[in-house]
Amino acid sequence: MNDILDTRLMHPREQVALVMTRIYRRGLTTTSGGNISVMDENGDIWISPSAVDKGSLRASDIVCIRKDGTIEGLHKPSSEFPFHRAIYGIRPDIKAIIHAHPPALVSFSIARTTPNTNILSQAHQVCGPIGYAEYELPGSEALGAKIADEFTRGYKAVIMENHGTVVGGCDLMDTFQRFETLEFSARTILYGKAVGTPEYLKDEDVDAFEAQLPTPLPEMASVSYPPDEREKRAEICKIVHRACTQGLMFSSYGTISVRWKDNDFLITPTDVPRWDLQVDDVVQIKDGRREPGKNPSRTTYLHQEIYRKHPEINSIIITQSPYLMAFSVTGASFNVRTIPESWIFLQDVHTLEFGTQFAGRTEIPDLVSKSNPAVLIKNDCVVVTGNQLLQTFDYLEVAEFSAKSLVMCASIGAMVPINNEQVEELRKKFIKD
Ligand SMILES: [Zn+2]
Repeated sequence: MNDILDTRLMHPREQVALVMTRIYRRGLTTTSGGNISVMDENGDIWISPSAVDKGSLRASDIVCIRKDGTIEGLHKPSSEFPFHRAIYGIRPDIKAIIHAHPPALVSFSIARTTPNTNILSQAHQVCGPIGYAEYELPGSEALGAKIADEFTRGYKAVIMENHGTVVGGCDLMDTFQRFETLEFSARTILYGKAVGTPEYLKDEDVDAFEAQLPTPLPEMASVSYPPDEREKRAEICKIVHRACTQGLMFSSYGTISVRWKDNDFLITPTDVPRWDLQVDDVVQIKDGRREPGKNPSRTTYLHQEIYRKHPEINSIIITQSPYLMAFSVTGASFNVRTIPESWIFLQDVHTLEFGTQFAGRTEIPDLVSKSNPAVLIKNDCVVVTGNQLLQTFDYLEVAEFSAKSLVMCASIGAMVPINNEQVEELRKKFIKD
């Protein structure tokens, strides 16, 4: 089966099987839990089966419930089909639904509250406000009615009390992005609470972010793809997919760029879900112009400025990973003097205010350097720079691991950092200027 989700031409049963496999591998559902459905143009619903291993689901396992109620397939449809049907019944704009019990969202569901998606600017945009459906017996019509009630209010994502979450969208890609982003936001808040107090963006902050985005670069008249350019495209795709698999990037967020020659570079697009990025999606930026017909990342201006200012930097990753974001949303000090490796790779990581990532601001390009390869931006992202892309990716991994250790350490006691003398010793031995 193709690993790239194509909601336009891929058969609904293949879409359901692919996304179920993806969320199972990412630890967002269990072997028996969760269900996914797609409603096609004919009004037929394709849904994952009941009691089939989610870890090895195949397209042929997917059940079809025709508009007239006839059931076709090798298995029984999911026992939660009633609430899928109820949602499609009242929301003609929803064509795909994911229900699962991902751990962070279940934490909110058992504490009987909803995550505030104003924790990160794009989370608010992708998820919107979150509904809350009171407990009812799984598989019951009553549960369907409670959930449908929330969807009637306009929500596209709902926390189910003592149960999990249900998320809808205009197609399965849209739904998967919302589901993944919502669980990510929940994790960020939970981990943030371990190290500090999460601060939320005001709606004005989110609007200000949207308002400052510069107009896209002009298009180039003609474009060529020499072998070294193609090589870099493939390299970017490989690292993006690896970042998604490793939980360092997800559908709705994450940008990678690689310097090609002089100040020309290749960068990921803004409108393609990261899991499904292909070489043809990567955008060439040459002489300040973009490849025709493509939309480069909305942070292209920042990459451009960093490359212009720093000839030694050849690759940049801007992303959100849950443990680093715990520090980004709280402003808690991210002290990488944890183990020698972390300090040697990252040295000291600073946190800049929300807004410093806006077009025209110079704080980030001014700060990043060989001795400050990574910087956190409040309620937004981590920016990691480096020479080779694999090295930059390694820095990101080291940073996320360090953040994870600090979050985990919070439950057993205060972290004792490597002292100044030990840092100087590391500097002498490992840092070459
Ligand atoms: Zn369930």
